[in-house]
Amino acid sequence: MKSLAGKVAVITGAGSGMGRAAVEIFAREGARIIAVDISDAVLDTAKNVDGEIFAMQADVSKEADVEAMIGKAQSEFGQLDAVLNVAGIAVPGMLMDVPLEDYERLMAVNLRGVFLGTKHAVRAMRASGRGGAIINWSSLGGINASMGTSIYSATKAGVISITKSAAIEAGKQGIRANCLCPGFIYTAMSAGGEKMPGILEKAALGRGGQPEEVAEVAAFLASDRASYVSGTVIPVDGGWSAKLA
Ligand code: NAP
Repeated sequence: MKSLAGKVAVITGAGSGMGRAAVEIFAREGARIIAVDISDAVLDTAKNVDGEIFAMQADVSKEADVEAMIGKAQSEFGQLDAVLNVAGIAVPGMLMDVPLEDYERLMAVNLRGVFLGTKHAVRAMRASGRGGAIINWSSLGGINASMGTSIYSATKAGVISITKSAAIEAGKQGIRANCLCPGFIYTAMSAGGEKMPGILEKAALGRGGQPEEVAEVAAFLASDRASYVSGTVIPVDGGWSAKLA
């Protein structure tokens, strides 16, 4: 029995990395999917992944785009069961050097984008009366700081906060909201990062993660098997966050 059979999911960041991996795994588990990305790479995802996938280009930092992508689940597939707010950007910079434009870009995509995705998911799920699952992508950087990622970390800490608020405010309507905190995952965003001395050994498992290893956790959270899981912050980091040093 496929764990997401009969469910409809909206997945952002679906053109690359963990968003694309989530499309593959949700489709494998029987979900119908609205795959969203700012990049036309999302068309390639829909073409090459087997399943009922509707591809859509949208900018998660724009409210009209986010409303349209959430509405698409209803108009295309007649229901909405899960929203995965995966899309994000990383712009490095030491706190004392961060230009205001970089701050604004990070906040717009990583925090406003997740806020809008969560807001419209809650609205649609409340209106349907069916409940649903929201899964937001934070980062280990949302829990702890690291050199040169100050504003990125601030946005990811905000994602944790937004997720907990959604869980609290919408729980009685059967809406569950949870947050994933990936460690080092091999994607376009982290490309080349594995060359940083010691970075892979930070994980207790002594290696980086594959996008699918994070997407599998999201598939569990979206399924009915996670029916009593809400408001959580789950590191998917090979044990990195368990280490003192
Ligand atoms: P990725 O491979 O770069 O994929 C991110 C996707 O989001 C890209 O297709 C990107 O399009 C898209 N995107 C960017 N801005 C957007 C916008 N405004 N609206 C819609 N889509 C937009 O990154 P990833 O590594 O899979 O990251 C997924 C999430 O995990 C992010 O939130 C990231 O912060 C988080 N994360 C990543 C790691 C890691 O090690 N990789 C660790 C912790 C957390 P473009 O390519 O055109 O920009």
